[in-house]
Amino acid sequence: MAVPAPRIRDMKRSGIREIMDLAAQRSDVLHLEVGQPDFATPTHIVEAACAAATQGYTTYTANKGLLEVRESITAKLKRDNAIDVAADDVVISCGAVNALFESLVALVSPGDAILLPDPGWPNYEMMADTLSAQVSRYPLLPDEGYIPDLERLDALAAEPGAKVLIINSPGNPTGAVFPRWVIEELVDIARRHDLYLISDECYEQIVFEGEHVSPGSLEHDGRVLSVFSMSKSYAMTGWRMGYVAGESSLIDLVAKVQEPVVSCATSVTQKAGQAALEGDQSCVREMTASYRARRDVVVDLLRSGGLLINEPKGAFYILADISAASSDSYAFARRLVAEKGVAVAPGLTFGPAGAGVVRLSLATDLDQLRTGTQRLVEAVSQ
Ligand code: PLP
Repeated sequence: MAVPAPRIRDMKRSGIREIMDLAAQRSDVLHLEVGQPDFATPTHIVEAACAAATQGYTTYTANKGLLEVRESITAKLKRDNAIDVAADDVVISCGAVNALFESLVALVSPGDAILLPDPGWPNYEMMADTLSAQVSRYPLLPDEGYIPDLERLDALAAEPGAKVLIINSPGNPTGAVFPRWVIEELVDIARRHDLYLISDECYEQIVFEGEHVSPGSLEHDGRVLSVFSMSKSYAMTGWRMGYVAGESSLIDLVAKVQEPVVSCATSVTQKAGQAALEGDQSCVREMTASYRARRDVVVDLLRSGGLLINEPKGAFYILADISAASSDSYAFARRLVAEKGVAVAPGLTFGPAGAGVVRLSLATDLDQLRTGTQRLVEAVSQ
């Protein structure tokens, strides 16, 4: 009897989904687990998509995407990220997740090791499992604003088989924004150990303090792939558009992978993305200001309840310390749904470092966020 691929059968499910499914069985749950903007896509972007559909942008595009959209991406990369690439050095993808996966497919062979942050976005590990790659986790340091433990990372990077370093700033689930010196060190570690560096910058625009620094602006020996998303900055999660930029020969490989995976990103979405990148950016500033105001409220509540680890400087998540109540954040999150009607993401889904923490999403309406955080504080102190 034929059997399906064991590595997929045995792949761990995202704990966020598990809690979402549990919470979906009740109608009175406050949802603080989901990481997607609660704003509508700005009208000018939706209108551009409607116009594109009627103008015939309904066919396949080149694997890399429509040239005029890639040109608007290169202008944005130059202006906002100090990354200077040609339109041919960009692949437009179906969300950052697609760009990250295709980049890994292009770089990694079975058995190679991918260095991942702990805690970090669970999908990285799922991608590694899909590719039969090894996972090597480098710690982020809570007491230092969740920047990477550079000494430990350096040691892991020196191990045989290490091939790709994934970094994520602003970070999910930590809200860390790595300062310039850290990005410089990370680029240096990649160079010294001859690793590829994939930089997941999908929260690049959502920064409350500090500056976002793209590693692609600091290195010129072609080992960095810079991945971006339209989902978070422009409240476009369902449109599915991201992009990846890098050195020509690497980008050509990513485009080659794009052919059998999705062929091209959705044509109408690409035109919507162009309108987003070229249009008025005040929508991004307004949404970011809103996440920041919500962060301030949650930080105060967690601080007075003794659960604050540190203040996120970007993205739209905050980690809460629940270790006084439990060292099994899965069990705690299930109990919080059952007893308090609040859904949060269990820290363990982001890696072993998440044992005694849960993640709250700031992409939630302020009233729900306030009540949900208060109930979380009560649950830990009971
Ligand atoms: N990278 C990180 C760290 C994320 O948190 C997410 C989405 O939650 C993504 C990538 C995927 O973004 P996209 O919607 O562009 O696929």
